[in-house]
Amino acid sequence: MNGLVAILRRRCSHCREGNIFQGLWRMNETCPACGIRFEREQGYWMVSVFLGYVLYGVVLIPLTLALYFKQVPASISFPVVGIIVAVMALPVFIYARVIWLYLDELLDPREDIETVIPQDFLDVGSDSLDSNK
Ligand SMILES: [Zn+2]
Repeated sequence: MNGLVAILRRRCSHCREGNIFQGLWRMNETCPACGIRFEREQGYWMVSVFLGYVLYGVVLIPLTLALYFKQVPASISFPVVGIIVAVMALPVFIYARVIWLYLDELLDPREDIETVIPQDFLDVGSDSLDSNK
């Protein structure tokens, strides 16, 4: 799958198949297709907060400048900007995280989970869990 299409469809940055989100805003902890853990470490999503500000800036700076230069009164332009900020909140939250996952994968690619944890170990682990029941 093309990278841009995968980002728009909110697919895993590693395999581009599994959904990052289940439902509208709830994230999967791991990829349902390849099994990588999305949150690598505590504080992992702090960069996505910064990316969210960037996404807001990409939309709001040109909009604010256009309203200013068209001399739209503040009684109209302030509510317009406020409504756009409110409408953008959920998409910005989602795509800031998705874009951060793709940037992180680009800068520091993850290994396949089978190469990190041998499949034999995974099989033994699941058998021992079953025998404890
Ligand atoms: Zn995946």
